[in-house]
Amino acid sequence: MFKFTKFFSTKTTPQSEPIPGTHQVPNSAGGHAWQLDDWARLDRFLVLGCEGGTYYVGERELTIENAKIVQRCIAADGVRTIDRIVAISDAGRAPKNDPAIFSLAMAAKLGDEPTRRAAYAALPKVCRIGTHLMHFADFAQGFGGWGRGMRKAVGAWFNGKPAADLAFQLAKYQARDGWSNRDLLRLAHPRAASPSHDRLFAWAVKGELPDGAAEDPACALIVAMTELNKMDDVLKGAQLIRERRIPRECVPTQWLTFPDVWDALLDSMPMTAMIRNLATMTRVGLVTSQSAAANKIAAQLRDPQRLAKARVHPIGVLSALMTYKSGRGARGSATWEPVASIVDALDAAFYASFGVIEPAGKRMLLALDVSGSMESGTVAGVPNLTPRVASAAMALVTAATERDHTFIAFSAASGGHGGTWGGGVPGITTLSISPRQRLDDVVKTVGALPMGGTDCALPMIWAQKHRVDVDTFCVYTDNETWAGSVHPAQALRAYRDARGIPAKLVVVGMTSNGFSIADPNDAGMIDVVGFDTSTPPVIADFARA
Ligand code: CA
Repeated sequence: MFKFTKFFSTKTTPQSEPIPGTHQVPNSAGGHAWQLDDWARLDRFLVLGCEGGTYYVGERELTIENAKIVQRCIAADGVRTIDRIVAISDAGRAPKNDPAIFSLAMAAKLGDEPTRRAAYAALPKVCRIGTHLMHFADFAQGFGGWGRGMRKAVGAWFNGKPAADLAFQLAKYQARDGWSNRDLLRLAHPRAASPSHDRLFAWAVKGELPDGAAEDPACALIVAMTELNKMDDVLKGAQLIRERRIPRECVPTQWLTFPDVWDALLDSMPMTAMIRNLATMTRVGLVTSQSAAANKIAAQLRDPQRLAKARVHPIGVLSALMTYKSGRGARGSATWEPVASIVDALDAAFYASFGVIEPAGKRMLLALDVSGSMESGTVAGVPNLTPRVASAAMALVTAATERDHTFIAFSAASGGHGGTWGGGVPGITTLSISPRQRLDDVVKTVGALPMGGTDCALPMIWAQKHRVDVDTFCVYTDNETWAGSVHPAQALRAYRDARGIPAKLVVVGMTSNGFSIADPNDAGMIDVVGFDTSTPPVIADFARA
């Protein structure tokens, strides 16, 4: 008998060819995968951005590719696009807000009339602080000038804030990336909503508080700032900072070397600023082992409600942990002695920043793609945080929730630099990492694993061969699979048949390309976005159902 099916079958197809009868497309690696629809790609872009590109696609091309997706979504359904932007930005689900701001600017300038209106209405929800608004203005400039809608919306942004809040924004974020409040107010030229707003606008534009400001409670912060600039007694200055809640950005630079000043700042420091300034507060001697400041910071870092309210993203925490633990800054020659209780609290904050996740109580196989391509690009522009190591951190969140889990790392059995390691199983390394370990150790362990080609079917093949019972496979990958003799979706179906388990597959996408190994026509497979804070609960819900 001539084995026709050796060459053409829906059950076993090499990854270099599409599965017959499906809509698979070539991926960037010479393999085949499914193409995500534009809405799924929009989500990937909003969460993952495109900074640094991928192993296969440069930063420029990836940006253009994603911008075109946003454009298509705006054309297909502008209001739906804005709803997605607001949902992801407002809940703090993405490591960075810039993809959301960029997409909103595009909708505001390129959308039809209802889309523009919705985009401008969403401006305060997406652009919550002065920096965001300046980025919005900069992006919008790329798609057109300052029309009436833009002027009105930016003016409404300033007028919509209560005067005291506006004073804080104006003082703290005076200028960013070539834009200033002065520029924005001059271009938007809003009529002030109140006499207080009028005084604050005057200060932002002319740099001087007008008459009557000294008696206006809304101007108190700016009055205090002006006073602080004239002082030379550090202790008195620190007292003023504490009383008037003056933010760090408004404190003269030469004062930022004194522990008393930082202690005063810490009193009302927002969480994200606190996390960013841990090294400085340690260097100046405020944060030492068992100091009151260290205890206070550690307690705040372990508080899930505070983390949620401040929209602290786990990637920001992970980045802070890696830098803080290293004892030296990424730029410059600053060094410090990391305090153990802070390092431990950052580790706890990483898990706490995902909120409460109900365990699914299923048997999970957490499979990390450690192939060479996962080592390219950085997550949210964080130095040394590649998709490869960051995916380990993401998987640990599910590991911390689900008692019954196994970790493996995979590349390919052959091809590329692949080979045999990890106890003689080709392309697979069983990993003994655990949420009880500190994140920076896990990152180091995963970073040191050998790299190789890519075969995303290996986790299912491995589990079948070794008779491992799995209810849900979670594969953390860039979906650039190419090296296998069978597609991942086919390997999953073979596993189901062989083990008699209706196993599911969650594909956690780690880059903003357009591919997925999940078969969209199989209800037992889904594609989710890595580094989205809502991903671990989605995985649990899908596994449970
Ligand atoms: Ca790869």
